[in-house]
Amino acid sequence: MPTMGYVKNQFREVLSALVKKCYWNQVGGMVYCFRRAQGRARQPPRRSILLLRYFVITALLTLALCPGCQSPDRRDSSRLPEPPLATRSPEVPPVRPTPPPPPADDGITGRGRAAWIPPTGIKKSMWRVIVVHHSDSEKSTPQSMNQWHLQRGWENGLGYHFVIGNGVNTGDGQVYVGPRWKRQIQGAHCKTGAGRFFGLPRPSGFFNDRGIGICLVGDFENSRPTAKQLAALTELIAFLSKECNIPATAVYGHGEVTRQTLCPGKNFRIADVRKRVTNATAGSH
Ligand SMILES: [Zn+2]
Repeated sequence: MPTMGYVKNQFREVLSALVKKCYWNQVGGMVYCFRRAQGRARQPPRRSILLLRYFVITALLTLALCPGCQSPDRRDSSRLPEPPLATRSPEVPPVRPTPPPPPADDGITGRGRAAWIPPTGIKKSMWRVIVVHHSDSEKSTPQSMNQWHLQRGWENGLGYHFVIGNGVNTGDGQVYVGPRWKRQIQGAHCKTGAGRFFGLPRPSGFFNDRGIGICLVGDFENSRPTAKQLAALTELIAFLSKECNIPATAVYGHGEVTRQTLCPGKNFRIADVRKRVTNATAGSH
């Protein structure tokens, strides 16, 4: 599609041609007048006279359409190139990503004996052993371990059934009830194949499927569990032992079972825990 400037240029050329023609016609008229004065004119140049009238009109139009009549600003702006899209003002603030939503409720709530019995009750015949762990870090929380286990692909999240805090980022001696215990489903804390364990044949996955996992927050290779942690652990295991009829001799440290980990650390004395539980449950079975 022709631009406005192109149309104007064409119009100017047409006007210019008309002006030139009128000029030569005017010259012709002057020649006619000269010859007529000498008595040699042959015919009147009627067409030349008509075109001469147009001369004035076209001259005025040409002046009206000349570039000098236009606004300089308008003429310049019409010839300015389009601003490149790639260049933007550096003062434009960068778009900030929307903050991530707050973590969803991971189901870890409650403290104390009243919270240890799930709404649907305990599947007492399901649980046969108890396995104790440490988190390997003083700063762990049930939430951070839940995230870690989800990242490892465990769709049910936190692999332990219970977590006992150490007072750093968790309450000292506070017992956190994991979603797996609330739902009474198998843990993900002590993977084993089929074989003999403590003199008994066990199928593959027995300690995850039939074992209650309890994790104490801390690194017991380099520190010790707090007194409140040990008191809470004894109370919790005594409760579970009574509810599920699990003897103190079926309470193990993680490394005792698999022989492939230092968990729950050399400073954690699982034999002492068994003695405590035995004393706490004495006469109640
Ligand atoms: Zn462990």
